[in-house]
Amino acid sequence: MHRFFTEPKNVTIFPRDETTPEMDPIGQIVIAGEDFHHLIHVLRIAHDERFEVCDGAGTDFICHIKEVLDDHLLAEIDIVNYSRGELPFKLTLFQGIPKGKKLDEIIQKGTELGYTSFVPFTAERTVNRPKNADFKKTIRRGRIAYEAAKQAGRGIIPSVEEPLADINVVAKMLAGYDLVLLAHVGEGNPGLHTVLQAFGKTPDNAAVIIGPEGGFTEIEVLTLQNAGARVVSLGTRVMRTETAGPALGAMLAYAFGLV
Ligand code: SAH
Repeated sequence: MHRFFTEPKNVTIFPRDETTPEMDPIGQIVIAGEDFHHLIHVLRIAHDERFEVCDGAGTDFICHIKEVLDDHLLAEIDIVNYSRGELPFKLTLFQGIPKGKKLDEIIQKGTELGYTSFVPFTAERTVNRPKNADFKKTIRRGRIAYEAAKQAGRGIIPSVEEPLADINVVAKMLAGYDLVLLAHVGEGNPGLHTVLQAFGKTPDNAAVIIGPEGGFTEIEVLTLQNAGARVVSLGTRVMRTETAGPALGAMLAYAFGLV
């Protein structure tokens, strides 16, 4: 079935009470722009054909075309479902800014694996230092998250934030998470199994922190630990920075019984 995203503002759910006839429509969705063009002119979707629209906020609607107008159409909702494709907890990736276009790849793979938010930051050993706020880059990265979410059948489009200036800003944000994993290469660092056993439950809102190519300085590790991060080793092989975040995302899904 064809599936695409809309915004909640385009969805209207009709009020119902005991007297509403069973056959009355559940609601309707206005579809305009690119998706309208795609459904009508590219897919040439038939009036009795069902398709799925996700509101990007965790709900899917199975619907069919009710009326086609000049530049938009009205679709009638047949079935409402909670979106598949979401982990039962939020998962943010704080990513030390890597070189080149690796962040694009991290956002793409991370979205496929269930991350809900991406927050790049400049670490002491970051080579590629953004000088000014570059909103265009953030918008492009948001588009990558959108495309990957669509492809992966996600129920939300992960957010991509503006880069944070340094580790102190990251540390200040950690209070909002119930589980914070700081991936750090080091002999004697506890493995994921040990750290998750100590945590003892499924998180509601977890965060993962990954260093840039050069890793973290000891001061950065201490700053993040003091802010509540738990240092974790991901095994005896050193992964590239663009591998570590997606890999840890996949490990968490498995650890919480979701694979
Ligand atoms: N030479 C650097 C390697 C950095 S690898 C160092 O010794 O720190 C880039 C980032 O990926 C690291 O900062 C860490 O966040 C993550 N990472 C890669 N492999 C890892 C592993 N085996 N255990 C924990 N973190 C790892």
